[in-house]
Amino acid sequence: MIALVLVGAAGRMGRAVEEAALASPDFAVKGRVDRADRHPADRGGWSDTLADFAARGDVVVEFSSPEGCRACAELCAARGAALVSGTTGLDAAGEAAIAAAAARVPVLRSANFSLGVAALRRALDAALSALPRDWDIEIVERHHRRKLDSPSGTALLLGADAAASRGLGSGALRQGRSGRTGPRPAAEIGIHAVRGGSWVGDHAVLLAGEGEWLELRHVASDRGAFAHGALAAARFVAEARPGAYTLDDVLSAKGR
Ligand code: NAD
Repeated sequence: MIALVLVGAAGRMGRAVEEAALASPDFAVKGRVDRADRHPADRGGWSDTLADFAARGDVVVEFSSPEGCRACAELCAARGAALVSGTTGLDAAGEAAIAAAAARVPVLRSANFSLGVAALRRALDAALSALPRDWDIEIVERHHRRKLDSPSGTALLLGADAAASRGLGSGALRQGRSGRTGPRPAAEIGIHAVRGGSWVGDHAVLLAGEGEWLELRHVASDRGAFAHGALAAARFVAEARPGAYTLDDVLSAKGR
């Protein structure tokens, strides 16, 4: 049985992870961490401090905020708990805290825990290998109106994948366009963020040639898609040695 501590437990993803964990016989939810004003009145097992729960052998699953993610990384490293982290929009200090934690405990971080997005990344790599380099790459993502960061971590990941495949640096990413921008440079990857309604997560990669175009698209219609991937990651880190892991490591382990 894997003991889970959920950080951001009252949020959209925290609730989806708990629902998936309760339906799975190999997990027990040991504690839920969120801001005190978000605790439900009628349930025990809540705290606003991860220190109240995290211990060696536990897996902390956090979908919270950049500050929450950083605090989790520091506490997991100090307590010897493994970490699955899904928060997007981290700054350099957050990334450094994750890297420092991975030197002491297993840490698996992903901007997108859906298996469909993992397959989309592989399909994009295959498509770019098969197409001439003069096909233009544009990424369009849609998310619900309450999302705090733009563009999404997944759009940035897909942009970085495409740039690496073309031998371009991160300077090739162009976020939105306005004004008299002139003709589109060939070595550019456009990223466009649409916000509204209740879209859970929609990512389309458009590959545009002369007289034809191709669209690779993933749509998450339910947060359960991310929650099941996060639990697969939790099973993986529960058995792993200290280090920094990705969802690809989980998928490769499954295929063994
Ligand atoms: P949300 O706003 O619904 O929930 C976040 C929760 O975290 C809130 O309850 C908030 O009170 C809590 N929180 C914030 N800071 C905290 C802290 N320091 N300590 C404890 N609790 C804290 O947001 P959400 O839609 O659940 O998304 C959360 C994060 O996960 C975002 O960064 C989002 O982009 C990301 N996300 C990642 C994936 C993925 O697959 N990696 C999927 C969906 C969302």
